[in-house]
Amino acid sequence: MVELKTPDEVAAMGVTGRFIADLLDDLTDRADVGVNLLDLEERARELIAARGAQSCYWDYSPSFGRGPFRNVICLSVNDAVLHGLPHDHVLADGDLLSMDIAVSIDGWVADSARSIIVGTPRPEDRRLVDATEEALAAAIDAARPEGRLGDISAAIGAVAKSYGYRVNTEFGGHGLGRTMHEDPHVANVGRAGRGMTLRPGLTLALEPWFTLGSDRIKFDADGWTIRSFDGSRGAHSEHTIAVTDGEALILTSNEPQ
Ligand code: MG
Ligand code: MG
Repeated sequence: MVELKTPDEVAAMGVTGRFIADLLDDLTDRADVGVNLLDLEERARELIAARGAQSCYWDYSPSFGRGPFRNVICLSVNDAVLHGLPHDHVLADGDLLSMDIAVSIDGWVADSARSIIVGTPRPEDRRLVDATEEALAAAIDAARPEGRLGDISAAIGAVAKSYGYRVNTEFGGHGLGRTMHEDPHVANVGRAGRGMTLRPGLTLALEPWFTLGSDRIKFDADGWTIRSFDGSRGAHSEHTIAVTDGEALILTSNEPQ
């Protein structure tokens, strides 16, 4: 069931969203050649504890993971693209790092991801990250009142196609609010004009992710980390947004809108 949020509830999610934006800015500043992923996890824990926020990842136990998740952030490097388990890895020059985090403050959740390249970027990686950011911007632009859910999916898919990337359909965006995953599912490819009608108060996590090669994926033995099947690199960009009477509001932003 899709639950529309009141303006006050959307504002509460925006408080959480701004905290996440600040946290990702902090980690982006720290993530550099020579930095261990475990230090980024530790820093995220510090910031969450200092804010009195709750991690939505800690103890998360979906059907695919092996045992509950015992980290507060997903850190996916190079061919890992989603749900990367923070581990003892020192970032090397040119590593492509995707950071994905969801927390709740006062019972309201926000969820955001960004991909960065540490040190010297490979041009093909820069292009891949640009594509996910462009797809996210197109998805947000498509989230208009009286539009359809398929408009968002189609917007993401069109950007992927323009870059020559194939879209995996096993994982995509989702509703969220009091919990991290609510209805509806938001596919990263689809047909415009189809699906539920978008209404003010609908809150969605939109999250295009693409890989340079195959759209097939494989899981690590840990049951969490998702990698491209062919070893090509992946990138992921995500914002939590609210549909309004006009342009969608980006809740996981700390910039004026
Ligand atoms: Mg996320
Ligand atoms: Mg999400």
